[in-house]
Amino acid sequence: MLEGIIIKGIGGFYYVKVGDRIYECRARGLFRKNKIIPLVGDRVLIKINKEDNTGYVEEIYDRTTELIRPPVANVNQAVIVFAVKKPDPNLWLLDRFLLLASYQGLDAIICINKSDLDVDGEIDNIYDIYKKAGYQIIKTSCTNRIGIDELKRQLKDKITVFAGPSGVGKSTLLNNIQSNLKLQTGEISQKTSRGKHTTRHVELIELDSGGWVVDTPGFSTLDIDFIKEDELIKYFIEVYDRSSLCRFSGCSHNKEPGCEVKKAVEEREISQSRYDNYLSMLQEVKDIRRY
Ligand code: GDP
Ligand code: ZN
Repeated sequence: MLEGIIIKGIGGFYYVKVGDRIYECRARGLFRKNKIIPLVGDRVLIKINKEDNTGYVEEIYDRTTELIRPPVANVNQAVIVFAVKKPDPNLWLLDRFLLLASYQGLDAIICINKSDLDVDGEIDNIYDIYKKAGYQIIKTSCTNRIGIDELKRQLKDKITVFAGPSGVGKSTLLNNIQSNLKLQTGEISQKTSRGKHTTRHVELIELDSGGWVVDTPGFSTLDIDFIKEDELIKYFIEVYDRSSLCRFSGCSHNKEPGCEVKKAVEEREISQSRYDNYLSMLQEVKDIRRY
């Protein structure tokens, strides 16, 4: 038996990469019985049929994470890309991406791209907010080739999904990391010229410098309605850390006296925008529960 990783799945066939070779495999009925469907990203054991070099997936190792959109197993981290300008950064949206990454068990790396367009120090402002919150953050420019090698180092030996609004430079970044590596657009299906629907298949792309990249951007929906009201705070880690020090155990960190979170905001240890976004997303999950 050989050990490999599923890099693509189409119509019941799984393409398993073992070293430099790719084997076309089917799954044994056994998985269907247990309702486990192999996913791209799964580490598997396969048995090869010597005659035609096709194989069977015999075993799927336990997954560390399981993304739904795109459906990929064992993703380690999300690179969340924003631009300094064109489009202007939206920190509410960035916090939303960070929340969703964390909820799904992924480490997040923030990438502030188009640093060449920074004229008024906006990038330092964003950098400070997220450094303070404990995030890893990289400034990049595809135009001036800044930060690309650092980003490449962060991708080594990991499975990474890129996410972020359109137009921020996700595909350009990937092409700078490795030419011929174009990130697909976020659409799930599109019409061909003959009017037929073709389904997009998510695929893992191996980097020459080590590691894997998911070829489809992550989190095409930004719903947070499945997150429980009292759990939301855990995904705003710097708010969560402070909250244990509040005078009242049920403190909502809004109006109560003795609130250490509010104090930290006043002392600028927690940034105002992170705090505001926490409260607004909390209100949002509360409103969802009410209907
Ligand atoms: P995506 O939608 O996130 O994949 O964004 P694209 O990679 O398609 O890039 C959108 C536009 O931004 C393109 O016109 C790129 O040439 C441009 N772009 C990408 N990176 C940079 C950068 O670092 N600086 C500048 N000035 N433009 C960039
Ligand atoms: Zn509080």
